[in-house]
Amino acid sequence: MSGKLFVVGFGPGDEKNMTFWARDCIEKSNVVIGYETYIDLIRHLLDGKEVIETGMTEEIDRAKMAVEKAQSGNIVSIVSSGDAGIYGMAALIYEILLESGWRPGMNPDVEVVPGITSASACAALVGSPLSLDFAVVSMSDLLVPWELIEKRVRAAAAGDFVIVIYNPLSKKRTWQLQKTRDIIMEYRSPDTPVAVIKSAFREGQKIKVTTLKDMPNAENLGMLTTIIVGNSTTIYKNGIMLTPRGYSSKYTVPDFSSIIG
Ligand code: SAH
Repeated sequence: MSGKLFVVGFGPGDEKNMTFWARDCIEKSNVVIGYETYIDLIRHLLDGKEVIETGMTEEIDRAKMAVEKAQSGNIVSIVSSGDAGIYGMAALIYEILLESGWRPGMNPDVEVVPGITSASACAALVGSPLSLDFAVVSMSDLLVPWELIEKRVRAAAAGDFVIVIYNPLSKKRTWQLQKTRDIIMEYRSPDTPVAVIKSAFREGQKIKVTTLKDMPNAENLGMLTTIIVGNSTTIYKNGIMLTPRGYSSKYTVPDFSSIIG
């Protein structure tokens, strides 16, 4: 019997940010596989299912297990936080399948279920910093050499992209953020607004807006932190971080102050 494999992104971690489709796939599955911290976040949906939890470094085993379980006729969800296609499990699943000669139409049937990624979840918590072109960079040099990460940061900085940083630091990786700050400051003001968001939409959520020069010393840095570095036009005003779309220089923005009072 042919099986089914859903590669599910369940959003930043809370109920309301999970799509109906993601929830539906998890509910339909008889096997759910994921990193133990992620499984904890969706435990309430898993009654009566076979649940396979693995450690953080066991991604390849997890992906192989998901493929095998689905190939043997199960309905399987392999879960990632955020979007499963953004630093998530979807690529690994397809790499394993393609290597084995699989193509669409063969067993298992695969569907990638998109979710709200950390960039959009975190942006929404501080205002609207991603309203113009932005670039996303992960600081993790486990699989990508640091020289290449640096090259990408420099290109994004030179192009005046708002820059979203995933995986800003870990216990072993502490100096990269300072180097990143120094590169971006070659192109941008040290006072550029920077949002540092930890555990968005999860227990222990922390939001701080600081400046580029202070970024490496910000509170809230950790494995569950996303950073948003503004571009040359980004402002921080009355608690809102905003990259204006530019309408105010094209048209006169109406003065609502009399209505708002
Ligand atoms: N697939 C995920 C990203 C996984 S990489 C997604 O689309 O969001 C792991 C990184 O994601 C973390 O180091 C952190 O930068 C970010 N992240 C994941 N969950 C987060 C959350 N709830 N709040 C802030 N950042 C988060």
